[in-house]
Amino acid sequence: MKILAVDLGGTHATCALVEGRRILARETIALPGSPLLATSLETIAASLDRVQAQNPANAIGFGFCGLVDSRSTRIASTNGKYTDAVDLDLSHWAVQRFGLPLRLENDARLALLGERFAGAAQGETDVVMFTLGTGIGGVAMIGGQLLRGKHDQAGVLGGHIPVNFAGRRCTCGAIGCAESEASGWSLPLIATEWPDYASSQLASRRLDFEKLFACATAGDSVSREIVDHCLRVWGAAAVAAIHSFDPELLVYGGGVMKSSDLILPFLQEYVDANAWTPWGKVRVRAAQLGNDAALFGVVPLFDQELPLVR
Ligand SMILES: [Zn+2]
Repeated sequence: MKILAVDLGGTHATCALVEGRRILARETIALPGSPLLATSLETIAASLDRVQAQNPANAIGFGFCGLVDSRSTRIASTNGKYTDAVDLDLSHWAVQRFGLPLRLENDARLALLGERFAGAAQGETDVVMFTLGTGIGGVAMIGGQLLRGKHDQAGVLGGHIPVNFAGRRCTCGAIGCAESEASGWSLPLIATEWPDYASSQLASRRLDFEKLFACATAGDSVSREIVDHCLRVWGAAAVAAIHSFDPELLVYGGGVMKSSDLILPFLQEYVDANAWTPWGKVRVRAAQLGNDAALFGVVPLFDQELPLVR
């Protein structure tokens, strides 16, 4: 079965043709600078035409950055970007434009499906995956099945696990979420409020995690304090996820994992010291597939027992 995969980001989309554990064709396209998904659909469709030009596909798997009801193939809620998506019928679009069935899934869930199918979680049944990037994705699989819940939002809001009841307001509306306390978008806000920030090495340029870790390694004391803060935030979210979902493995992906040699040992030690798991130790591991994880995720997505809407 050949499946077209769409991994939709804020400014770019990756479109690919996937068959089993092979990516037959792919391209990453810039999307129109519109806040609406409807405006980008034809750009995405033209890309899908190109990647399946030599090998016609049998289905489309679509990854979306928001709350997704995969059973009804509808987007339930978005977090700022693509606010029109809740009113779009992507199944109808796929049938009209391509004559193909479409399945829709949250992008972080797709990444976990992909890592289990072809990456760091192969052979595992009970896994939580965190994606540390601009935001934080956090998804749970129990007994080999993605956790969904009545409203399809169970086990998919790991970045919005509260880690500080007196913390910063998050884009989701809550206070002190993991991603409002330590993620790409909140890092500059955290740093500029940090004591002695103005006299630190961080003050001179635009701040991201690569710069933060580099300054910390170079001995900047403010950078070291903020790195320690972020590691503890991610550690608290990890323990919350372990106590909530009973995984045997935590998988970490996302751009921040360029510093995995520093992050993973801390998290393993934090989890060993703080998680209540009398059965044994939860393992902490880096993701293997990078940006390809969500593309490979469309293969198991079509193996799941979900109704196909045509
Ligand atoms: Zn939040």
